[in-house]
Amino acid sequence: MERYYFDHNATTPVSPEVIQAMVSCLAEVYGNASSIHHFGQMAKQRLENARRQSAALIGCQPQEIVFVSGGTEADNLALFGVVRHMNRPQKHVVTTAIEHPAVLNACAQLEQEGVAVTYVRVGASGVVDPDDVRRALRPSTVLVSVMHANNELGTVQPVAEIARIAHEATVYFHSDGVQALGKIPVDVKALGADLYSMSGHKIYAPKGVGVLYVRKGTRMGSIAFGGHHERERRPGTENVPGAVALGHAAECAVRNLDAQAVALAAMRDRLEAGILERVVGAGVNGARDRRTPNTTNIYFDGIEGEALVIALDLRGFAVSTGAACSSGAVEPSHVLTAIGLSPERARASIRFSLGQSSTIDQVDALIGAVEESVAHLRKISPVPAHA
Ligand code: PLP
Repeated sequence: MERYYFDHNATTPVSPEVIQAMVSCLAEVYGNASSIHHFGQMAKQRLENARRQSAALIGCQPQEIVFVSGGTEADNLALFGVVRHMNRPQKHVVTTAIEHPAVLNACAQLEQEGVAVTYVRVGASGVVDPDDVRRALRPSTVLVSVMHANNELGTVQPVAEIARIAHEATVYFHSDGVQALGKIPVDVKALGADLYSMSGHKIYAPKGVGVLYVRKGTRMGSIAFGGHHERERRPGTENVPGAVALGHAAECAVRNLDAQAVALAAMRDRLEAGILERVVGAGVNGARDRRTPNTTNIYFDGIEGEALVIALDLRGFAVSTGAACSSGAVEPSHVLTAIGLSPERARASIRFSLGQSSTIDQVDALIGAVEESVAHLRKISPVPAHA
């Protein structure tokens, strides 16, 4: 059976070009980038080249790039690195109800440490209203963290406006850019971000490598303790092959961005239109006019999303629900409930995320598989259709 991958927001395959760059690094360069001898300097050269490539992707200086282990660490370093090191009697953070757990659970930990956190709500669009961020600010606010693109809906947040609001109040601004990078243009200077998170495995590099952009002059402490790597911001012997992979993926992303965005949006829109035309009781979650080009999130009333994921997998299509399965119970996605979906409709929702390998033929086959699977599940479901 042919298998087709429509879950690129979960992770992307490593591109052949990136594999080649990484393998050559593994084979040729094994020195420790901190060593002063020839072997160390070879590794250091590759690392610094990767830093320049990563900086070019987001429009910053290479010194502003901190290599980390992925998006989760980048988010944690931004939040804890700024907030814990701010010497104030009272500290307050503003974030949103639709962030990734890497931000939400870091905020929950900050609350345990006595920091106040406001979770700005969003409406049905899944887009944050900058005025709500403005209203949430307090004299004690030290950081605003709002993601650039949402992982479940693809909705793109007005981060430039929010950064401006934060800066008017002399508050630092962090954005989780993990799902924006490689899909929409990102210029951290134009956005006004002080800190910006990225992850290799969402842009066709491997898992376990990421970057935190830290604007020059931003006061951020370390959250782990060891050597003097990454300009004292992140200790640990550098993952040179990982950084090289990310750097190459960044370079490819810059090169392919515009053409890729047009092709993906056309296929995503075809998928969406096909499903909505052929399946009754289905609809798109979140704003359709402010999304990354590869993502759509669709509810199918009267079915369980998990069951549809399994049915489609049996037909060779990989998609996902935003829901997390914990202790045997399927929790509805916090993003979908935050935008006002009932728990039933949230559980009946599926995320389709396209990528470099997607084709029109795959999209057309997926439309047919969704139509048949939904019809079958509704027939055998004890829940009345479109309940
Ligand atoms: N932030 C967002 C928006 C994400 O989608 C993800 C991964 O799904 C992360 C952070 C975490 O990144 P990583 O898997 O590299 O830790």
